[in-house]
Amino acid sequence: MLVVPGVEVGTAGGHYAIYGVPGPELEGLYHRGPHMESPSPEALDSLATFHGGVTIVAHPRGGRKPWRGEIPSGAAGIEIMNGDIEWRNDPLPDLVRALFFFPFDSRASLAFLIDRPSSALALWDSLLQVRPTVGVAALDAHGGLRLGKRASLPFPSYRAVMALTRQHLLVPAAFTVNKPDAARVLLDALAAGRSFAGCDALGSTRGFAFWGESPEGPAEKVALMGEVLPLRERSTLHARLPRGAPLVVRLLLDGVAVAEERSWEFEYPVKRPGAYRVEVYQRRYSRLGGSSDLPWIFSNPIYVADRAGRGMPD
Ligand SMILES: [Zn+2]
Repeated sequence: MLVVPGVEVGTAGGHYAIYGVPGPELEGLYHRGPHMESPSPEALDSLATFHGGVTIVAHPRGGRKPWRGEIPSGAAGIEIMNGDIEWRNDPLPDLVRALFFFPFDSRASLAFLIDRPSSALALWDSLLQVRPTVGVAALDAHGGLRLGKRASLPFPSYRAVMALTRQHLLVPAAFTVNKPDAARVLLDALAAGRSFAGCDALGSTRGFAFWGESPEGPAEKVALMGEVLPLRERSTLHARLPRGAPLVVRLLLDGVAVAEERSWEFEYPVKRPGAYRVEVYQRRYSRLGGSSDLPWIFSNPIYVADRAGRGMPD
């Protein structure tokens, strides 16, 4: 197993996650004495840049510590889903139901509590208007639910929360965790946004793909998530989903839905530049009639740029 350590640091703005810096540096950030001032996001960005690491704003919206002020431009991105917050913000009857079903199916009972993280997504879409920004799913597992100063419930466990959401990184086919540069490859994919967030507790999201194609001379230019697709006459965006559950697939351009599909394959002719991303929901039908759409996948964007440079991230 490969572990790339990171730490979440309390700063004046809020919680800031830093990955890919050497262990002793992380230790220093984690075991800061009470008299020591908290580092600024800018200082953490410099530290990350120096070591080839990555910084990400933790739970910018919601939670006990939402981010205050501007999102630092040195951050690669923000957390768009947070396993801890997503289930805590539900009404009490839903939490009680989850607690009841938890012993029978811990993954699904928590997954049903996850709502579309609308305010974090709105923040993300506004940042995407300005610069490329990565969106990631995080867990924020605390190994239980604190009920006061002393009491706590062992619900949900680390194991249950860690099975909830996952950030899937795209790596070259030859990738193995044993190679000396394995951590480097993962950090690069994380920083570049070659990844998607999956609520895998509802079902494995492995095999999800979102890419763009533009004819380029006799060849074809292919862009993955996090990459730039040049806008041409016959540019297309594609999504492919693992088959199984009934799905609702939504394509967004600059935060606005431009297409919706109910299939496992998706093709969209692109006519306008901008940041395109995909949201996938599993549609669950209730026995009483009606249905609910459970968030399943949030892709990172593909940046479609025209010849004038519109849509081009800096
Ligand atoms: Zn935090």
